[in-house]
Amino acid sequence: MSDELGWDADADADADGEPGRGAGPAQGARLGQDGRLGQDGRELSPAENQAIEAVLHGARALVLADLAAVGVAAPGVVSMLEDAVSERRWWLRQWPEGGPHIAGLLAQDMQDALLETRGRWPLCPLCAEPHALAVEPELGPDPHWVCEARREAVAAVGSLRLLPPHAPPQPPDPLGG
Ligand SMILES: [Zn+2]
Repeated sequence: MSDELGWDADADADADGEPGRGAGPAQGARLGQDGRLGQDGRELSPAENQAIEAVLHGARALVLADLAAVGVAAPGVVSMLEDAVSERRWWLRQWPEGGPHIAGLLAQDMQDALLETRGRWPLCPLCAEPHALAVEPELGPDPHWVCEARREAVAAVGSLRLLPPHAPPQPPDPLGG
């Protein structure tokens, strides 16, 4: 009897196989910690490594464009982006099929990193009350910046530069960059 655990036989059993945000490497966290090995423990082929680098390069360019669009692509911030790319390189080697998710994840990595050091990024251009845009989907292809207050997509990740200028001039870098 397993009733005591509260499991319901009818519980939704992820039959559609849609991965959650934590899917992928988390399932095989013991594999390939040195970052050179793929999810099944074998060395990745040059072609696979090349594909991974291409994905990372494209995602990095998109996020960098959005950082530059609102004037936060300072050297310290760019090195934060390089760190985030390195972590996602490891992640992608564990889960090569995760390529389409990388741009959205990298944008969220930078939101987290900037929140700790410089504050919210990117600010919503639609609302008078300052708040950060959110990435949707959190894990999926074709990520967009979304105003959650208005439930409105603002721009594709990588396209913030197409927005009219909205932010006041940035104050000098408080980190002394
Ligand atoms: Zn808003």
